[in-house]
Amino acid sequence: MSDTPDSAVRTYIEQHRTAFLDDLADWLRIPSVSAQPVHDGDVRRSAEWLSAKLKETGFPVAEIWETPGAPAVFAEWPSDDPDAPTVLVYGHHDVQPAAREDGWDTDPFEPVIRDGRMYGRGAADDKGQVFFHTLGVRAHLATTGRTTPAVNLKLLIEGEEESGSPNFRTLVEEQAARLTADAVIVSDTGMWDETTPTVCTGMRGLAECEIELYGPEQDIHSGSFGGAVPNPATAVARLVAALHDADGRVAIPGFYDGVTELTDIERALFAELPFDEATWLRTAKSRAASGEAGHSTLERIWARPTAEVNGIGGGYQGAGSKTIIPSSALVKISFRLVAGQDPDHIQQVVRDWAEAQVPAGVRHRITFAPATRPCLTPLDHPALQAVARAMGRAFGQKILFTREGGSGPAADLQDVLGAPVLFLGISVPSDGWHAPNEKVELDLLLKGVETAAHLWGELAAALR
Ligand SMILES: [Zn+2]
Repeated sequence: MSDTPDSAVRTYIEQHRTAFLDDLADWLRIPSVSAQPVHDGDVRRSAEWLSAKLKETGFPVAEIWETPGAPAVFAEWPSDDPDAPTVLVYGHHDVQPAAREDGWDTDPFEPVIRDGRMYGRGAADDKGQVFFHTLGVRAHLATTGRTTPAVNLKLLIEGEEESGSPNFRTLVEEQAARLTADAVIVSDTGMWDETTPTVCTGMRGLAECEIELYGPEQDIHSGSFGGAVPNPATAVARLVAALHDADGRVAIPGFYDGVTELTDIERALFAELPFDEATWLRTAKSRAASGEAGHSTLERIWARPTAEVNGIGGGYQGAGSKTIIPSSALVKISFRLVAGQDPDHIQQVVRDWAEAQVPAGVRHRITFAPATRPCLTPLDHPALQAVARAMGRAFGQKILFTREGGSGPAADLQDVLGAPVLFLGISVPSDGWHAPNEKVELDLLLKGVETAAHLWGELAAALR
């Protein structure tokens, strides 16, 4: 077996493992916390460190891209094959805040290796998962005898993801010509668990609104006027009550227009995941599972759109009583969107629905925050199949598929570049993203390197 390409990749990675981990530890020592202005210089130092490391790796182009906020890193390694497809890797080099006193066993910015894990802020989210691409591409070249990758390889590693990526979409729009790609690989997610390698196929989108309802011009006496004028707090409660029907479906007319339904194959593959509802309920800190009838919990989280009340208020909420009809009330609602739903259409149907619900004599104002689109790459897409094959070669196991219930900047890449988005991540739920004692499993990190080493050949063949 020692002369198969897959074992050659393994040998190469084993030979370079120590230097690779030392380098990653160096990067983790830079506290690139984008949320805290005191670390602005560190975020810049992190970008400079990465750009230098990518040059050392062999990328002929590695640049700092400025934004009105924190800098991003762009790198490019063209293939010498004129027919090679182009692939863009997305990740981020900024990290969540961390301090020893938050509950870390060791200094979050002084990485340590213990029990086969590297502990340190950013070990999994996201420096470790960006960094596996550096050794991955070296292993790809060394074991195929190539001098350039099998694809035109581009990397865009942003510096503001943990701060909500406020400048990311503009950056992508401005640099769209240099970012063009046939596929995008996002390495900022994870897999199901330590023993179940999975590929994520999409993320939900997000639309958020606030609806304010106004009744009397000021709070008025509930004895003198009660029962004879509309109450905005009652109106907001009726609005919320009308959001869902008895089957847990969103009752806003037109809300489900265009929704891409799960295929039977996808439902069957979700059902193969070792999901235990009792364990999940513990992580949800909830007493019962509920939601849209006819769908499993995983389907509800990953593949169904939702309406959730995030906050509701109005009237007197202090101690004792205050007998008034309040002058105003408000509700904040967020909608998770799935493939096929258009955020502009959602805004329109929500506006129309609110308009129809609000009673005469109550004025309302509805405002929407900027929306995030959903993204989804179908299971039979050749690029997705290529990612699963590369991962299968590294793990020597059947690869299952997940989705992500949350929303992220990946959708901007899909949107602006018009390229399918694929997710390659080796992090697991126990890695403690955003929490104390964040870590990465070294075995899985090296499987990430191995997957990346196979990926460019697989994608070049699939996208040709
Ligand atoms: Zn991340």
